[in-house]
Order: sequence, then structure tokens, then C-alpha cells
Amino acid sequence: MTIQHLGEVDHIAVLPDHAEYDQARRTFLAVAEPAVVLRPSTTDEVVASLAHARRLGLPLAVRGGGHSFTGFGTLDGGVVLDLHRMDRVERLGGNRVRIGAGATWGPVAATLAGHGLAVTSGDTTSVGVGGLTQAGGIGWMVRKHGLTLDSLVAAELVTAAGEVVRASTTENPELFWGLRGGAGNFGVVTAFELEAQPVVTVRFGTMAFAADRPDAVADLVERWGAVMRAAPDELTTILGLMPAMGDIPAGVVLFVCLAGDDTSALDPLRAIGALTVEDVTERPYASVLDEPHRPEGAVPVVDNTLVRRVDRPLAEAVATAYAAGGRMFALRSLGGAFGRVDPAATAFALRDAEAMVLSGAFLPAGATEEQVAGARATWRAVGDLGAGTYAGFVGSPAPEDVTAIWPSATLERLREVKRAWDPDNLFRRNLNIAP
Ligand SMILES: Cc1cc2nc3c(=O)[nH]c(=O)nc-3n(C[C@H](O)[C@H](O)[C@H](O)COP(=O)(O)OP(=O)(O)OC[C@H]3O[C@@H](n4cnc5c(N)ncnc54)[C@H](O)[C@@H]3O)c2cc1C
Repeated sequence: MTIQHLGEVDHIAVLPDHAEYDQARRTFLAVAEPAVVLRPSTTDEVVASLAHARRLGLPLAVRGGGHSFTGFGTLDGGVVLDLHRMDRVERLGGNRVRIGAGATWGPVAATLAGHGLAVTSGDTTSVGVGGLTQAGGIGWMVRKHGLTLDSLVAAELVTAAGEVVRASTTENPELFWGLRGGAGNFGVVTAFELEAQPVVTVRFGTMAFAADRPDAVADLVERWGAVMRAAPDELTTILGLMPAMGDIPAGVVLFVCLAGDDTSALDPLRAIGALTVEDVTERPYASVLDEPHRPEGAVPVVDNTLVRRVDRPLAEAVATAYAAGGRMFALRSLGGAFGRVDPAATAFALRDAEAMVLSGAFLPAGATEEQVAGARATWRAVGDLGAGTYAGFVGSPAPEDVTAIWPSATLERLREVKRAWDPDNLFRRNLNIAP
């Protein structure tokens, strides 16, 4: 459909003949040909954009930071609501902050650092506040301060009916429950209010380990699990099993973040295997968020699972899948403050998970569906040992992959929230909870 009359949203519209269209149609991992990209700066403009999308009758995509692994932030022939201009970060009172839903975590961390504050988020500067907060937010301080959504105290959103509402424990509490883990199904969030933490620096860096055989890798994984089970909340780590890439050989790297002063917490980690190199130093928290390199045109394949225990069967399944080659594995420690939240308090219910196992590969541009299926098959033996998946790293929109995110009782409760706030499923280009 060719759109010509944009009325009150004309000034925020990017049509195919616009100089910025080529950039506006892309996300971190996807490119499409939307009929129009609307870039609101205010809540009123979001309301007008939604009204316009409804009038056009075209499918809608809502984009925060555009980092969805399934490319939800763009679409062919539809309307993209790109929130990147809604990126204001304000301190309210005390440690409470209000963050525009189109902000990304690097600039947020840099701004909050100016106040001596931080919100536990992810590990990547360009990931969006909008998507990450509604999925969960597993970051460098997840064991100390929980998920990002555990710091959320209120959200402002524009509903499918075009109303502007607030959600908190006292305003639309069931909607607030669903927003915390419901992966963007209920409306366009325009701003989040979060309780930040007084954090200036953390001890951050890597420890590299020698492990050339699958049994040595399995030993490392199992020992890492045991050390993290007993670790203080201040310590969050990621055990990375990296495949060979170009000239860089395969290797095991432990990424460490200690949000506290007692460095003795690091000692047991040094003993999980044959430590070859260590580089852990005190750094400003904002500087530990990083930006990954994405091979141009490569097809990403990503899978994850939340595991209740990092035990020997899991360690061996991971080591075997890693030995098959081509895939990166990252075991992210959970527990601590994350695990002490009541499973029914938010729509992120799998609070007894001890770790998340994430695995990914980049296949060459033009990879076929069979190649993608083949790359995913290696993962299955690991995935089968998990209790469910984390919405943030779901790599496929297939119904069975979406329902694996939530326990059935949580999913049923989310459906009720969906029926109440978006009965026609206007917001469906997401990990969709059908009403
Ligand atoms: C390189 C990379 C690193 C990552 N690192 C981490 C990490 O360390 N920790 C972690 O927990 N996750 C991480 N993630 C996963 C990330 O949290 C999810 O991909 C998340 O959905 C991205 O949010 P976004 O706003 O950037 O993406 P988008 O693609 O813009 O949005 C993702 C989904 O949320 C919806 N959405 C976004 N904003 C809004 C809004 N304001 N209102 C309503 N719906 C909205 C979108 O419609 C879409 O369905 C990473 C992803 C990538 C690609």
C-alpha cells in the first residue's frame, strides 16, 4: 500500500522516499520494507500514531531499541512505531528514575552514573529499555539487584484503545504484573519508573581457562555451577564457551562482575579449572556495558533455557554440544536476589532457575531453513534439560517456542490480562500471547 495522507502524524513519518527510510526500516538483526515508520517524541504522538495505524488497517510493529532476535521491530507493508526519540532519563526523587521507553541502556547507564546511580540491565549498550524491561533484564547485577523488571515501580502506556494509563502495584495492578515479563503484549509503554541503586564502580573483567577436551569443559561447567550456588549476591558471572572464529582459537572465558568490595568472593572461581589469564579491575559500571560486533548479513541462530541446577548431566550436554563446533555457549548465573522474588509477583515466574544457558551461532548470509534447523538440532539435548526459556533470547516466533517462556498458569493469567487490555490483539508482532 502506498501511503500519501498522513495528517497529524505527517511530521513524524518516514515514508519509502524519505532520505532516512533505509536506516529507519532496519533493526539490529532485521531489515524489511514497512509502508511507513512513525517516530513519535511524545505520548500524544504515540496516541496519534496508534490511531493512524488503526485507520490504515495495517499490521503494527512497536520498536524500542530494535534488538529482538526475531526481528519484531520492523515488518513488510505495515506501520512501525519507532520509539527511539522517547529516550529521556530523569531523576524523580530519592533514587527513583523515569526512563523513556525508547532509550537504550548505554546512554541510560552514562546518565545515571552522573547521579551515582545504576539500574541493573543487560550487557549491551544499544539494547532497548522498552523490550528488555518487559522481557526481564538479566544483567551484570542480576544476583545483587534482581531482574531489571524487579526494579520497576510504575509504567506509563498507551493502550490498544488509545488511552494513556499508569500501571503500578496500586494502579491497574494486574496489568503491572503482566508488564513485568509479558514481553510487550499489552500496549505501547512510553516511560518506565524504576528504583535505581547507588552504584558507581564494580570489579569487572575476565578469567580465561584452558580446557581442550569435552570432559575438561564439563568439569569447568559443573564446578562453576557449584561455586555460583554458594556465591554472595554481589557476584554475577557468565561462563563463556567460545568457538574458534577466524584466527581466534576456541576457549573458555569467565566474565566476572563483583558489585561489592570483598574480592575474596573471586577466589573459588580461580579454582574451577586451569586459570591461564586474569584481568579483573575496578571500573565504572557504565563502562562495562559493551557493543557486540554483528557479522554483516549473517543469519543469527539463538536458543536459551533456564535451568534449575547446573549438574553433571547439564555440564556434559553443554560440553558435547560445544564440542560439535560452531556455536557459542554462555551460562549466566542467576539465584541471589533474582531467586528471592515470589514467582507469582511478576510474569517472570521461573525464579528457581539457577542459571540461563544461552547459545548462538551466526550462519553465513543466505543460510537455508535446513541449515538453521541443523544448527538448532545441536542445541536440543541442552534445551531439553531446562525448565523454560527467557523471552529476551527467544530466537523463533513459533508457537511452541513462545509458550515455552511461561509456565501454563502464568500464561493463562497473561491471557486474561491480554483479553482485558488488547482483546483484538493489535499488539501481535511480538512473542504473542493470543487473547
Ligand atoms: C546483542 C544483544 C545483547 C543482548 N543482551 C541482553 C542482556 O544482557 N540481558 C538481557 O536480559 N537481554 C539481552 N538481550 C535481549 C534483549 O533484552 C531483547 O532482545 C529485548 O527484547 C530487546 O529490546 P529492544 O527494545 O532493543 O528490542 P525491540 O526489538 O525494539 O523490542 C522487542 C520486543 O519488545 C516490544 N517492545 C519494545 N519496546 C516496547 C514498548 N515501549 N512498548 C511495548 N512493546 C515494546 C517490541 O514490540 C518487540 O516485540 C540482548 C539482545 C541482543 C541482540
